[in-house]
Amino acid sequence: LTTGALLAQMLVDPVGLILRWYDELQVAQVSLARLVGVRDIEPGTGDAALAPDGRHVRAERVHFGYHEGVDVLREVSLEVAPGTRLALVGPSGAGKSTLGRLLAGIYAPGNGTVTLGGAELSRMTAERVRTQVALVNQEHHVFVGSLRDNLRLARTDAEDAELWAALGAVDADGWARALDDGLDTEVGSGGLALTPARAQQIALARLVLADPHTLVLDEATSLLDPRAARHLERSLSRVLDGRTVIAIAHRLHTAHDADVIAVVEDGRISELGSHDELVAAGGAYAALWRSWHG
Ligand code: ATP
Repeated sequence: LTTGALLAQMLVDPVGLILRWYDELQVAQVSLARLVGVRDIEPGTGDAALAPDGRHVRAERVHFGYHEGVDVLREVSLEVAPGTRLALVGPSGAGKSTLGRLLAGIYAPGNGTVTLGGAELSRMTAERVRTQVALVNQEHHVFVGSLRDNLRLARTDAEDAELWAALGAVDADGWARALDDGLDTEVGSGGLALTPARAQQIALARLVLADPHTLVLDEATSLLDPRAARHLERSLSRVLDGRTVIAIAHRLHTAHDADVIAVVEDGRISELGSHDELVAAGGAYAALWRSWHG
């Protein structure tokens, strides 16, 4: 399986992001006030100066714990150049998903900063975060409502023409145009039941509408048959094109074609490099790779 094939099994979830944001903030004991109702970047101080490229991701001396006194991430510093694909690998429980959620703005670091395009994520409004970064995972949310409502969750002001363009971008316009009621079709429980592949296309279309600079992808086990997975892989690779991508690879074989691999061990980044560099370096990644092959 290529990384792309696995990425294709993932889902885009801007709404879940917001819902989880509130939920998980409680869990994370992060002050809500830090993230909600805080000021956006001051106009004129120059997004231009601060954000030469919104796809530039930087974590500096990031600490994080879910519970007081239990550090999950310790002193994580990382810079991801615009348009790079970074894979996070490492043992179960090392902190990969947690780091991914911090880079996606779902949690705020206890100490340290995460910046996107030079602007600190925890100081942005929720609205602005959504233009910067989205978390893509296996949870797919089709809500009770029309197809239009489901798509507009990503951008409430989107016109129908834009919704159709987004559906077209993920190869979903064929079946959607065949629906008697088009965008007015009721979906979700009680409405039209969408196959997992179609639900994933809706989620991808939301991503096209939200159009964030950076995507954090948490890999999933497949819900799809191989043909549907290949089909979706093509759509997803178009959606990923040109964006910064941070893929949380819970299994090693999904990481090796990333531009850069970060090995996360015990809440720290222990190795950073391309697959070939890390294999040649003979460290933890090389050992994992050998044991996986062996
Ligand atoms: P895996 O590959 O198994 O998913 P991971 O490297 O992604 O692991 P995380 O999921 O980030 O690791 O978990 C890091 C640590 O944080 C673990 O000890 C885990 O139990 C803990 N943890 C993760 N999520 C939460 C949460 N919501 N509340 C409390 N503790 C959590």
